[in-house]
Amino acid sequence: MNWLERDYKHLWHPFTQADEWERQDNLVIERAEGSWLVDTEGRRYLDGTASLWCSALGHRHPALDAALRGQLDRVAHSTMLGLTHPGAIDLAERLCALSRLDRCFFSDSGSTAVEVALKMAFQAKQQAGEAARTRFAALAEAYHGDTVGSVSVGGIDLFHGIYKPLLFEAVRLPSPERAGENEAACLGAARRLFAEHGHTLCALVAEPLVQGAAGMRMHSPAFLRELCALARAHGAYVILDEVATGFGRTGTMFACEQAGIVPDFLCLAKGLTGGYLPLAATLTTEAVYQHFRGPYTAYRTFFHGHTYTGNPLACAVALATLDELPGAIRQLPAAALREALASIRHPAVQEVRALGMMGAVVLRPQEPSARVGHRAALAARRHGAIVRNLGDAIVVMPPLTISGDEIGQLARAVEGGIGEVLG
Ligand SMILES: *Cc1c(COP(=O)(O)O)cnc(C)c1O
Repeated sequence: MNWLERDYKHLWHPFTQADEWERQDNLVIERAEGSWLVDTEGRRYLDGTASLWCSALGHRHPALDAALRGQLDRVAHSTMLGLTHPGAIDLAERLCALSRLDRCFFSDSGSTAVEVALKMAFQAKQQAGEAARTRFAALAEAYHGDTVGSVSVGGIDLFHGIYKPLLFEAVRLPSPERAGENEAACLGAARRLFAEHGHTLCALVAEPLVQGAAGMRMHSPAFLRELCALARAHGAYVILDEVATGFGRTGTMFACEQAGIVPDFLCLAKGLTGGYLPLAATLTTEAVYQHFRGPYTAYRTFFHGHTYTGNPLACAVALATLDELPGAIRQLPAAALREALASIRHPAVQEVRALGMMGAVVLRPQEPSARVGHRAALAARRHGAIVRNLGDAIVVMPPLTISGDEIGQLARAVEGGIGEVLG
């Protein structure tokens, strides 16, 4: 049996319909370098999704490879439960300084970073004597991960609808589709919802500036600022999920900087290790941390932790990533990406969305069963790029370090894929 036949026998792929998977032309990726993935046939493809939004600095980055190899010669894993290690200490310091927050709690994925923030915010309010604050406000079309808590604050019906009986109910705030559009109406509705439910809320949770999984829905920094101010005026914490937007994606280290906001909780993952290893962080304030202190038998401890929390290999590669990111952000080819996407010419293209190195080519709404976005994304492979669709949006999120030439090739491949499917 070849690789794919063996795959079809035992693997179960995430967010993938097996009926389609087993029929389509699939690639087996064997190697990578910079912005390129190479399959077992030796064919090269631009990594147009940065391996699902996390390969910030490209593949096989020499400094990241070296950091990982160096740590392997010391220790691969040691627990954070009752022990500590230099990598976690260094990384916590660096992340606190970058975010202007005080405390760093490590976990393994974006979902757990959000899950941790939700539980911390809830428990902090409970232990601060605000027992009535048991609920969360979240944006329409939000995506915060796939664990049950993060799904509860998520708002994408296609992904989340079936789990409704398992979930806690969030106060759902309308979200703008485009920056500057409809924002006043969304804020008006948010004001009314906060007036009604504000006293029951422990936190607002939001993806700042770009709602990635919703298909790159964007709002302005002013909208975000107003929303956060509203939450705080009603005594709720602000949780910002920068799992997608963090680490330079939107043009600044964190998107919330563009709105001048320091949240009470900041959730980080994807780009944190440059796409090398699973590591996530939930950062918060000293004031929140203080709500968890006391004698053991006051039972104020945060009883939560994952086996691989703060893994030393992951911390080592994250530290190297933080060393490299400022240079990459200074030279971000954001204008080149925006222009290249805008140059895609096809009557089926409804609009192009881009902020920093987050982009999407949105096709005119199509019959879902036609699977046009999916087919166009697959067809782009025949033109030398790997991209993915979210419904009718083809997402373009390459490594931050992609070159101008490569951006041009990526845009032509997306255009070629659309042309192949839509004529
Ligand atoms: C990807 C993503 C998550 C979930 O991260 P995982 O590592 O896949 O669990 C959460 N929030 C946002 C905004 C994301 O883009």
